[in-house]
Amino acid sequence: MITIDGSEGEGGGQMVRNSCALSLVTGEPFRITNVRGKRSKPGLMRQHVTAVEAACVISGAECSGLAVGASELTFRPGRVAGGEYHFAVGTAGSTGLVLQTILMPLVLASTPSRLVLEGGTHNMLAPPFDFIERAFLPIINRMGPQVSARLVRHGFYPRGGGRIEVDITPAPLQPQTCTTRGARTGVAAQVVFSGMPFAIAERMLARARHDLADWPEDAFSVRQLPAEQGPGIILMLEAAHSEVTELVSGFGQLGVPGERLARTSAARMNGYLAANAFAGPYLADQLILPFVLADGGAFSTVKPSQHLLTAIDIAQRFTGRRITIEQAPAGEHLLGF
Ligand code: AMP
Repeated sequence: MITIDGSEGEGGGQMVRNSCALSLVTGEPFRITNVRGKRSKPGLMRQHVTAVEAACVISGAECSGLAVGASELTFRPGRVAGGEYHFAVGTAGSTGLVLQTILMPLVLASTPSRLVLEGGTHNMLAPPFDFIERAFLPIINRMGPQVSARLVRHGFYPRGGGRIEVDITPAPLQPQTCTTRGARTGVAAQVVFSGMPFAIAERMLARARHDLADWPEDAFSVRQLPAEQGPGIILMLEAAHSEVTELVSGFGQLGVPGERLARTSAARMNGYLAANAFAGPYLADQLILPFVLADGGAFSTVKPSQHLLTAIDIAQRFTGRRITIEQAPAGEHLLGF
């Protein structure tokens, strides 16, 4: 059995989610101790429990120690079966992170799946729905499986109540070489908000417009959702290229001025645009699972994050494969699988 110290490396929930996903695909059981040991509130939170439960339900896995607050977990995988599944996080916990846990096992299953996931769809420290739809899934679809996702209702922290639906047609993952982003095909900056004054959204957008001065005027927009889907606000900056889309988010937080969020997000987008790498920092750690399971391929990325290094470490332990990282002269990093 693989034993993981959940306080090593990034020390967060991704170690639990990726371990479940890899365990289901490789058939290797695992035990994780010191779960989320580097987080200010260690142990499993509601959203991690839902993610592990989902991994159990799709495969009949056996799991001991699964409870909110638990710091140790043992997981024995079963056989993954495609089908219709409905998982509700029950809080504003991220639907995207539940999807991250079960997507690779389901794209490699022998029958299709339809998922309904309820909880948060646009929350901090997780991929917002738009990122999953436009940055992550196009690459999975290029690898062979067909996955389409719909946002039925937004869910913000703390209320949650969002809903996404995902259709999965499985296929083996074909290795890809993703080292160039291709020509830029479009940019967009959108504030999506609900249950708060319009002026806050406008101030956020004005700052983004100021800091992305070469983006065309019609790239900037505001979308107001019905008040019962809030309160919540997010700024999403999107740069589409022929090979990949980067989507940077600024999540509204109590006490943090919208202008500051917009400034930080624009700086991150400008940083990505000034580089040449294929994947931004979040996409990079999320591509480790599909690439390691495709048994080959390569992609380039910006400076490796701790999340990326930890995802690599966990993937190597479950698959026995070696993932290489080389720094290219232009400053980007090339990952080989
Ligand atoms: P953890 O902090 O270990 O729970 O992992 C968080 C996961 O969410 C990682 O896979 C990150 O790549 C992803 N993530 C966090 N923030 C964003 C964001 N703004 N956009 C896209 N993905 C994100």
